[in-house]
Amino acid sequence: MAVEMQKIISLCKRRGFIYQDSEIYGGLGSVWDYGPLGVELKNNVKKIWWRSVVYERDDMEGLDSAILMHPDIWKASGHVTSFKDLLVDCKECQKRFKQEEIKESKCPECGGRLSKPKYFNLMFKTYIGSVEDKKSQIYLRPETAQGIFVDFAQVVTSMRRKLPFGIAQIGKAFRNEITTGNFTFRCREFEMMEIEYFVRPETAEKWHKSWIKERLAWYKKFGIKSKNLRVREHIGKELAHYAKACFDIEYQFPFGWGELEGLANRTDYDLSRHSEVSGKDLSFFDEESKEKIIPYVIEPSAGVDRSFLAFLIDAYREEKVRGEKRVVLGLHKDLAPIKAAVFPLLRNRPQIVKLAKKIARELRGPYKVVYDDTASIGRLYRRQDEVGTLYCVTVDVNSLNDKKVTVRDRDSMLQDRVAISRLKKYLDKKLKYEMR
Ligand code: ATP
Repeated sequence: MAVEMQKIISLCKRRGFIYQDSEIYGGLGSVWDYGPLGVELKNNVKKIWWRSVVYERDDMEGLDSAILMHPDIWKASGHVTSFKDLLVDCKECQKRFKQEEIKESKCPECGGRLSKPKYFNLMFKTYIGSVEDKKSQIYLRPETAQGIFVDFAQVVTSMRRKLPFGIAQIGKAFRNEITTGNFTFRCREFEMMEIEYFVRPETAEKWHKSWIKERLAWYKKFGIKSKNLRVREHIGKELAHYAKACFDIEYQFPFGWGELEGLANRTDYDLSRHSEVSGKDLSFFDEESKEKIIPYVIEPSAGVDRSFLAFLIDAYREEKVRGEKRVVLGLHKDLAPIKAAVFPLLRNRPQIVKLAKKIARELRGPYKVVYDDTASIGRLYRRQDEVGTLYCVTVDVNSLNDKKVTVRDRDSMLQDRVAISRLKKYLDKKLKYEMR
């Protein structure tokens, strides 16, 4: 049965995955902070994405462009004129709604009269330099993609790239969303993992198909069940003005199907627009055909926060073990925030405590390892299961003599007796990254 959202939200807060931003000041709407375990999981999501799309391929480069960019970029890209929602205000309660969400011609909250619809641009504005006027106004980027387009020519030159090749980037994006909610699904500050894959125009459709297949396989490889994933094509008005075709990879959240990643064929729209507006020729000299072309681009654009949420929800399970409820986050090993936890079986035996602490210290470094002796062993296991810790290492009285510890596997709950001298190798082998 599907897990209720409330359980996930409460687990996230209680166990340090996600906190309300600025909570002690009453919170800032739809902005979230990632706590100690959240930052581990989030970093792991980004790490597995980077590995899959940059390290495992020979046709990709990485980039980290700035959040603040020349304001003309957003004119060229169409964001200044088109990145907007049609809004209505309630004259009674002052709440704002997207026009498309209004079913009757009255306020859905209080039944009050509504204003005429007007456009609202979703980009956050700020100023650069000391003078705050129209000329110094810039934007917080609403996507990372434009940074890739404007650096395209520099990457081609410095990395001596030929078509097809792609540029990948992970970074923050900001959107002053009107209808927010559903926890971190729609936030105002979020992170994106974006690829712009540049191809010869006649091969664009083939590459589009191949990227959809590849990205769908990525979510499955790292643990999301097939039945909770689907690919949905944009049709009619939904298709953005710059795109020839667009498909969304969606996940079945407890609140319904929602987009995890959009994969668009953006044609030569962006590079052409930036050539026009900047006056710099962004065409590509194709050695093979000896002609200048503006490449087409396939854009797989994913949200870190939404992937995080989907991985977490999909991993959550409750089961009965010997008559007791066990909550487990069955996260893929590459995603689990904590890889190993070390406990002394008896916390009032100084020698056992000392040995357990030493073992934890020696395991630390390549990944997150914790030591805990603040509860009975049963409770320590439950605590770790609930946050997805892969291996629990227990030091007992016998460990002092046989120099071995018990290693318990999170999913099977089977226990292995492992020599302390071999423990690091044992865990390294289990945690090894599997290439495709
Ligand atoms: P939606 O239709 O849900 O508003 P979108 O089509 O505007 O999303 P894109 O512009 O295609 O989204 O952005 C690419 C990805 O960035 C999305 O698939 C999503 O994972 C993520 N994303 C976009 N907006 C947000 C947001 N407000 N909060 C969290 N993630 C977001």
